[in-house]
Amino acid sequence: MEHPSQERTLVIIKPDGIQRALIGEIIRRYERLGLKLVALKLMVPTEEQVEGHYTLDPNWRRVTGEKTIKGYRDRGLTPPSEDPLEITAKILKGLKKYLTAGPVIAMIWQGAHAVELVRKITGGTEPRGAAVGTIRGDFVPDSYVMSDQDDRAVRNLIHGSGSVEEAEMEIPHWFKPEELTDYKVTHEDILYSKELKGILDE
Ligand code: GDP
Ligand code: MG
Repeated sequence: MEHPSQERTLVIIKPDGIQRALIGEIIRRYERLGLKLVALKLMVPTEEQVEGHYTLDPNWRRVTGEKTIKGYRDRGLTPPSEDPLEITAKILKGLKKYLTAGPVIAMIWQGAHAVELVRKITGGTEPRGAAVGTIRGDFVPDSYVMSDQDDRAVRNLIHGSGSVEEAEMEIPHWFKPEELTDYKVTHEDILYSKELKGILDE
């Protein structure tokens, strides 16, 4: 089995994150955990790239539609449609508009439990409910109530892969293999070596 420290995840700083001047803040939060940046680029995505990204998992349309319908019910509201695919089509339209509105930064972060820990630091999808101390919870006040009323995607600053399987599909969607750099950072010894050697003179 691959060592856990080799796990990789895709992070995208969405256009609002760049406009809010949060690039440094966002990178700092993943970097200080001990994750290693192995690829990074600034770009304006195309609508095709955004649609391709969200539909890499063939179940995403159905699952997101069902989750959204449940979200409406939990809030005591009637969903705009009973058809999960119709709901997702609307969400996808909003996401395409959101993510092509300006430059984004796509990054790959590597380290132990990278997928799970990036999600933890990033916070829940809806910023209004995201925990204090997470990036979404700390920096953005958006909510589904407001984004649905205004018929747009919820502005949550960041995308982070939802699972290792998702990361494995998303990374090649955004990066060519030669855009990744394999290298060491010295703190990896402290984080991952079996024995803490080399600190004291022997
Ligand atoms: P993420 O991985 O935390 O971004 O969340 P998902 O992969 O579940 O959803 C992707 C995107 O779909 C989110 O960033 C939202 O824009 C949208 N979305 C997901 N769930 C809902 C929902 O319940 N209501 C609305 N309006 N949009 C949603
Ligand atoms: Mg997701």
